[in-house]
Formats: sequence, structure tokens, C-alpha cells
Amino acid sequence: MTTSQNTQRIPVLDLQKQYEQIAEELEERVLKVVRSGNYILGQNVSQLESALARLCACEHGIGVANGTDALVLALWALDIGPGDEVITPPFTFAATAEATAIRGAKPVFVDVDPLTFNLNPRLIEAAITPRTRAIMPVHLYGQPADMHPILEIANRHGLKVIEDNAQAIGANYRGQPTGSLGDLACISFYPTKNLGAAGDAGMLVTGHAQVAERLRVLRAHGCRTRYFHDELGVNSRLDEIQAAVLITKLPHLAGWNEKRRAVAAWYGEALAGCQNLLAPTVTPGVTHVWHQYTVRIVDQRGHGPAPLRDSVKQELAARGIDSMCYYPLPLHLQPAFASLGYKPGDFPVAEALSREVLSLPMYPELTREQVLRVVKALKEILGGASIVAVPGPVPVQPLVGF
Ligand SMILES: *Cc1c(COP(=O)(O)O)cnc(C)c1O
Repeated sequence: MTTSQNTQRIPVLDLQKQYEQIAEELEERVLKVVRSGNYILGQNVSQLESALARLCACEHGIGVANGTDALVLALWALDIGPGDEVITPPFTFAATAEATAIRGAKPVFVDVDPLTFNLNPRLIEAAITPRTRAIMPVHLYGQPADMHPILEIANRHGLKVIEDNAQAIGANYRGQPTGSLGDLACISFYPTKNLGAAGDAGMLVTGHAQVAERLRVLRAHGCRTRYFHDELGVNSRLDEIQAAVLITKLPHLAGWNEKRRAVAAWYGEALAGCQNLLAPTVTPGVTHVWHQYTVRIVDQRGHGPAPLRDSVKQELAARGIDSMCYYPLPLHLQPAFASLGYKPGDFPVAEALSREVLSLPMYPELTREQVLRVVKALKEILGGASIVAVPGPVPVQPLVGF
């Protein structure tokens, strides 16, 4: 290891490295679109829709402008709107609950599980009212939510299930791909996601033909035939350039997700013995795709003004290591959702996680050397003996259970 490698900044994500692997094919495909003069909802989009539907074991894929639109259109296609309630976690990216609110329906938060960070099925039934229409679980950080109990509750109460699959493309729950478990699933191709476009893009997948047909109408101004508007819709089309980028990357997704699992295994092994830190856990029976590798920095000082996590983040940065906090304030305490009337203490797990979570560098091209440098820094900051001094080839653990 040279000195320069040793001191080079470790980013949380390195999209340049990914681009270098596929540059030639990517540029060729994009240029072909530019030269074709056919820019919106063309061949590339159709091809991507079929490929994503196949990947998610669904019959239909519907390309849209971004993942947030996918969530809004999912609710719209199910006629969920004013007077309706949708159950969703308070610990997720804001778009999950925003979509419900934008539709004029009410997000009803249910706390998350402290180990998986996902919607806690045991708390759902207490939140169901006669107005509840749907449950919207999120597969946060790439780990599938506990879908069997969620689907069982939804069935018993006649509720729809919309998966927010923005962070977990390629993941599996008990042998079934995420996206195929609920009535509908929403995917984001935001550039930092495991499958990222070179701009904004999104997709819906579903097994219901009628819902798919309605989504195609809604994404294009309510038209079945051009310039004949059966109902109001929006412009949320996917463009050919983004689809061409995504088609180029799609064959690499499984391999990239596999590499993320190897990186997670290196972290897990090296973090053993690190004090005041909880490494993420993987539920048996799921395949995690590690959109983020998120640890908890345990803060035993109670609710002081600044979480210990914030100073750990700063000290990592001083050592040339970037990290991120997803997400520093749970949704029920955000001003944007103040009208829902929630208060501090309503969702203790989400509130604790918001103070404790820290996402470490995670991308397929990350080396074991870099991972060990991150862990060494964490142990210096938090306490704990460094167990691995010299990096060398280490067999990757079998992936069963990841
Ligand atoms: C990224 C993301 C979205 C929104 O996707 P965009 O394409 O950015 O609109 C929604 N939900 C979750 C959980 C996300 O991570």
C-alpha cells in the first residue's frame, strides 16, 4: 500500500469508478439515442420496462420520471386520495409519506423495528381504522421489510400493499424478489441508487393488468389515444437517454449487488469489538442488497443537544473518510408533516435511530483495504482493538442468510 492510497479520501459513493467500467458501451448507446431523434417512451423504455418486470417477477413495468412520481401514481391508480389513510414508517426518505400527503390522503405512521429499521408488523394493526386503504412498507437500506406478516394483515383487512422498493432493487424475501410481494412496487433510478440513471428516472412494477393500464394513462396526461383525454393525468414520462443508460447497467446489477455483500461481510468481520457501535443485522431468509451499510452509534448520554453520532462523523471526516446520516429527523417531527399532529415520543425507535444511524462508505468498487481503514478509524474514535492489521485475501462468507 502506498502512502497516497493510505491517505486518499474515501467517499461514501464513487460513481466515477462505476462509469469507467461501462464507459464505452454507455456512450455508444446514449449517442445512438441522440442520433435517432426518438427521445421519449421509445424502444429503450419498452425494453427496460420488460427487463425490470422480469427482474421483479411481475408482468408489467411502467417507466415514469422518478421514484417519487411512481409512489404518487401508485396511490392514484388505486384511487387513494382525500379521506383515506395509508400506513407507512416514520423512518425513511420523505418521499414515501409525501406521496400520500400530495394525494390528499393521510399518512399514518407506525414505528420501525430496531434491528431491521423496517416497518414493525406487530404495531400495524393498532393503527388500522375504517379509513385505512393501504400499507406502504419500505425496504430500507436494501433489506426487505418483513413482508409475510404485513401481507397477512393487509389481506385480513382488505388493504392494498405498495412496496417502496427504491433502495432494494435485486433483493429477495424468502425466495421472492422485492417488488413482487405487494400489489404494486415503486422503483427509483436516482443516480445514487443501486441501479442509477444519469439523471432522474423511476418505474412501477405490478402483476395487475388493469392497474398497469391505468398507470400508462395517468403518466401521459390521461390519454389512451393521443390528444383524447379520458381523465386528468400528469406528464411523468421516462426518456430514452435514461432508459439507454439503465439498460447498459442492468446486466451488471447482480454482480454489483454481490460485491456490496462482500463489502458488508468485510465490515461485519472487522467491526467486531468496536465499542458503542452496533453493526447492521440481516434477517434470516432475506437477500440484502446493501444500498447503505448503516451502523448505530450508541449514545448513552441521553437526549443531549448533539448526538455522539455527529462528532463521530466529524472525526471520520478529519481522517479522510466520508459518511452520511440517513435520516437525521424522523418524518413525524418534520415541519412538512406538522399538520398530522404527532409529537416527540410518539415513535421512540425512529427517534433513537435518527440520533444514532451513520451510513459508512458503500459501493461495489470499495476495496477491503479501504474498509479496514474505515474500521480502524472507527475503533480509534470509539474504542476497540483493531483485529486486522495486514490486509490480505480473505474468503468471502457464503451468502446464505444475507
Ligand atoms: C430515493 C427514494 C425515493 C424517491 O425517489 P426519487 O427518484 O428520488 O424521486 C423514495 N423512497 C425512498 C425510500 C428512496 O430512497
